[in-house]
Amino acid sequence: MPGSLGGRKAVPWRLRRRGFFPTGESEARPDLGGRISESTLRGIRDRADIVEVVSDTVRLSRSGASFRGLCPFHREKTPSFFVHPAKQIFHCFGCGEGGSVFHFLMKTRNLSFAEAVEDLGDRYGVPVQYEKGPAPERPQEDLYRILQGASETYRELLRSSPAGKGAREFLRRRGISPEAEQEFFLGYGGRGKDILDALAREGIDPSRAEAAGLLAPREGGGYRERFRGRVVFPIADARGRICGFGARAIDESLPKYLNSPDSRMYRKSSVLYGLHQALPAIRRERKILVVEGYMDLIGMWQAGVKNVVATCGTSLTESHARAMKRMTGDVILLFDGDVAGKRSAVRAGGPLYAAGISPLVLFPPKGMDPDDWAKETPHEELSDRIARAIPLMEYIERAAGRKYDLSRIPGKLSYLQLMGKYLPWITDAAERHLYVQRVAKAAGLPEETVRDRLRGGEKAAVPVAPGIPPRASSSRPEEDMLLGLLCRDPSLIEDVRKDGVEDLLEGEAVREVVARLCRLSASQEVPDLLALLDDEAGEEARRRISEQTLRADMSPEQSRRAYPEVVVGLRIRKKQREEARLLAEIASTKDTAEQGRLFEELKAVRNERERLVQERITLR
Ligand SMILES: [Zn+2]
Repeated sequence: MPGSLGGRKAVPWRLRRRGFFPTGESEARPDLGGRISESTLRGIRDRADIVEVVSDTVRLSRSGASFRGLCPFHREKTPSFFVHPAKQIFHCFGCGEGGSVFHFLMKTRNLSFAEAVEDLGDRYGVPVQYEKGPAPERPQEDLYRILQGASETYRELLRSSPAGKGAREFLRRRGISPEAEQEFFLGYGGRGKDILDALAREGIDPSRAEAAGLLAPREGGGYRERFRGRVVFPIADARGRICGFGARAIDESLPKYLNSPDSRMYRKSSVLYGLHQALPAIRRERKILVVEGYMDLIGMWQAGVKNVVATCGTSLTESHARAMKRMTGDVILLFDGDVAGKRSAVRAGGPLYAAGISPLVLFPPKGMDPDDWAKETPHEELSDRIARAIPLMEYIERAAGRKYDLSRIPGKLSYLQLMGKYLPWITDAAERHLYVQRVAKAAGLPEETVRDRLRGGEKAAVPVAPGIPPRASSSRPEEDMLLGLLCRDPSLIEDVRKDGVEDLLEGEAVREVVARLCRLSASQEVPDLLALLDDEAGEEARRRISEQTLRADMSPEQSRRAYPEVVVGLRIRKKQREEARLLAEIASTKDTAEQGRLFEELKAVRNERERLVQERITLR
């Protein structure tokens, strides 16, 4: 522990609050489960500026009353993502994503609602208060503190303990600079029982350190320290909290690399090493470089390439891909140039394409890994090579073309079969078309034949990107219009309630919004739409609200004038549904008396509908 090393004063773990990464600004915070008070939400809404927050991730430019930019949630070349500063809402007309500043943070940084509120509260100096009731559960708070305490202990062991000499020498031999060591807060696992001793001093139950992944049970009772004798790489989540460790042997011990076991805090299938340090550079350059190892990452960082992340001892997953897609659609894979590295680059294509990313790929010259390459290459040359990375699909196609003899029919067929496995990954229609053209040309076949082959192989392909939902349908135009009017003038909800409009609605999302607005209007004079959004509105409802809010700027007076016509339209729709139901009943019954009764009913409904149609004409 710090206290036992070189006479440094020990800081009790429980008093530590700040993250240990020098670049980390966020405090260690627990996962929060309680309900945040409405006054806190209002305070943050009043002070937070959605344009400023979005600008951290998206380059925005003025467009009328709104700002406009390229959507961070789907791939596009012309901007359809809008931010409305006055309404404090964002919406993408391409993919339909939308909501308040809280939702933007949740989506881009993979936070829970409470986490997004806490982050913005911090940023805008609004203390976050929870509503009365059961205190929020914070089951992992102590685990984060234990991990942070351990990382500091490892760091001290590396910096100044006699036992850390071998590790220090190892890092120097591998060319790791003291600056990089500090930036990534590298440590050493020690040779003795440093963690166990510190836990005992702090009165922390070793079982909690086991839950944090630091200790492993020893056969015959007791614990052993998991990372003993290794160089330790603390792994932070996107908020800068240490959530686990990677560790590398400094001698011939096996395994060479070891990671924290998966837990609620650390999931290797979704965490990206170095992301916290890389975030500013990723935002600046709007590109992410992905490497496979801790040493590769640090090598690149030392060479001045800072927008780099690494997977932690696992192949790239869809969860990694989605996390990257939230930041940028430009992903460059930089893997080892050997057979294994090339295979894993190709394998990474599946999850990346599925998340809506068309990755680029780049390999170091023969016989080098990215770490060696970074050390031997001047920064300009590295940047230049990275800028010239080629599309992964192009790499795959070239490799397939080299693998088979395309001058002969069996070679062509094998080539076509292999490409039939990869082409369905591409979800962008234009991109796919271009590759189909290229493959058709190489195989000497009409494009239609290649396309037929792809349709056959479609079932086995990776499913279409989950992050790209279809655009909201307008099969109920009157309901969309009603929602639009309410978004422009929420005070209309009083009329909506009096007119019994809720009963006229068929669509789930709009009915949900109207019901919630009615509820809110009972307690507030004019219900606040943002409050509605943040009040756990469903995904579909949220998208509809942000869309309608941005779609057109109409004055409250204009909304009021349009309202009666919309309501009549809704009534007409309802009558049409009743007619359809009655016709179906008439068709299914054999009882002539019953049929007669139904016909009468149908006639009444038709008359009423015709009256409503006339009424609508007089309103125009
Ligand atoms: Zn979008």
